Amino acid sequence: MSDMRTLRRLVGFGEPVAAQYLRGVVGLGLVNLGVNGLFALMLAQLSASLVEANRAQLTRSTLLFLGVAILSSVSISFVARALITGATRIEYRIRNALFAAVNAVTLAELEKRDSGDVLSRMNNDMAQVSEMYTGTIQSLSLALFYGLGSVVTVVCIDWRGGLIIIGLASLTLLVSVAVMKPLKRQGAALQDQKASFLSRMSQVAQGATVIRSFNLAEWMTAKVLQVSRYQQSAGVRLATTEAIQSTTDPLSLLAPIGLLVYGALRSVADVAFVPRLIALIQMQNGVTLLFTTTARTLADLQVKLVSGRRVLELMDLQKEPERLVSTTAGNPVPGNGITVRDLSFGYDRGADIVQNVSFDVERGTTAAVVGPSGGGKSTLFKLLLGLYQPRAGSIALEGRSIYETPLAEWRHSFAYVPQNAFLFSDTVYANIVGGMPDPGQEAVENAARAANAHDFIVQLPQGYQTVLEESGHNLSGGEKQRIAIARAILQDAPVLLLDEATSALDAENEQQVQEALERLMRGRTTLVIAHRLSTIQAADVIYVLEGGQIVEQGTHEKLMGQAGRYRALVDAGLRSPTHQV
Ligand code: ADP
Repeated sequence: MSDMRTLRRLVGFGEPVAAQYLRGVVGLGLVNLGVNGLFALMLAQLSASLVEANRAQLTRSTLLFLGVAILSSVSISFVARALITGATRIEYRIRNALFAAVNAVTLAELEKRDSGDVLSRMNNDMAQVSEMYTGTIQSLSLALFYGLGSVVTVVCIDWRGGLIIIGLASLTLLVSVAVMKPLKRQGAALQDQKASFLSRMSQVAQGATVIRSFNLAEWMTAKVLQVSRYQQSAGVRLATTEAIQSTTDPLSLLAPIGLLVYGALRSVADVAFVPRLIALIQMQNGVTLLFTTTARTLADLQVKLVSGRRVLELMDLQKEPERLVSTTAGNPVPGNGITVRDLSFGYDRGADIVQNVSFDVERGTTAAVVGPSGGGKSTLFKLLLGLYQPRAGSIALEGRSIYETPLAEWRHSFAYVPQNAFLFSDTVYANIVGGMPDPGQEAVENAARAANAHDFIVQLPQGYQTVLEESGHNLSGGEKQRIAIARAILQDAPVLLLDEATSALDAENEQQVQEALERLMRGRTTLVIAHRLSTIQAADVIYVLEGGQIVEQGTHEKLMGQAGRYRALVDAGLRSPTHQV
């Protein structure tokens, strides 16, 4: 994406609030020009009254001087407020658009990205974009209105003096332009390193238990320090270039010095030139600013646009469609419950992970999916939830195809209870209610009771209002699962997708979870990725998924009667629950 296109798109986000921002930006430039111009005029009058020893004019000039000073501070505060408010509102809009876009991105796209990189773009790069509005564009406006206005004014006051100022001040621009080139590349490198650092840091936080239990602290520290060192080097390289650029600062003294030499020579010959010399000295500030800031601000803008592009890339990731694209020409196969026909899917451009899978789960019955790890069970669940676009085949619920149902509506029919319940950093109550309209305390408690969760919830310090730590760290695995089950009970969706936990719970927790699940499954069409023999035995039908294909199907008794894959799996030791006799 070109710099201009990036800028245009970023500016586009601010369109509805642009008037206020532009008032601030343009106002700041014009107010600076106006105030400086008036000061120059006042100074010229003051010096003229001194040269001519005119007391009345001296008093008038002093009063005007005071008036201009007051006017300038009042007007500057007004435009500064408009500018900052406008910039903050634009930033607010971009941030919200970014969040909405990331929220709508397909799972496939998100899974391809490193979460640290996504966070860094939302945080570090967004901060750069905000600075573009509060700092960079403001400097450009100053250069444009105040700077160019001052150029015109000095030439009008005295063209020779004006040219001396412009000539000497422009030297700073030449030096700045010479060192500007690497800034863009160095800015991009720094943002990349910041993303890597954040990614490592999130691993440190998420893997805290593993890092400690396997004594990986030193290994991890070395990795973090390495990324941190790269970030430091990238930061130093960028700062060095910026520092070289700021060596042009002393050059900006050349203009006033040259002007003084020229002015002194002319004033010696003609004392009437003194007021004009003083006005020139005042106005040369704006000319110098034009040359010192233009190159630097343009370079800074390029660095900011690198971040802008990174933010826009995130916004441009493929979004979930309203409905999936149909891969079947014909009508869906009539049936009740879940009907899957010839379903195929593979990640990215890889081979099919789910290959030509067909199966049914009749309304109100339970089907168990079993098979070796990597067989495609979780992928199948994600396909049922419409999280990926199938390559071929159809999925229908109660005779209605996934392709003809808006995804949001489709997902309303499913309650998904994952292996490791994900809980939000919020109250227990909010975690059970999820995004539903508040059903009231009684309904929430009933759901929690059915999930065997009520008793432990009321033991928590603030009961249902206890705020759970991130990912429910302050709860045991079984407790987290029971909260997730309460959420599913409250959701009351007709279809239940259950990913049974492989990790062992203690006997009491296991029994409580099992009871809760049985209550949840009752009357619902259930597909369960099963690891416990008792769950599998209780299922109406078992599907053995291996290498992405259903290799066997039938009841426990039927499949045990064959010397096939299922029997081999059972013999190899499908987990027997501890409480099972
Ligand atoms: P199961 O749940 O039966 O263990 P999965 O559905 O998780 O199996 O995985 C099936 C295959 O798909 C595995 O080979 C796995 O490596 C691959 N896979 C799973 N998720 C992804 C993904 N997000 N991107 C690429 N490949 C994946």
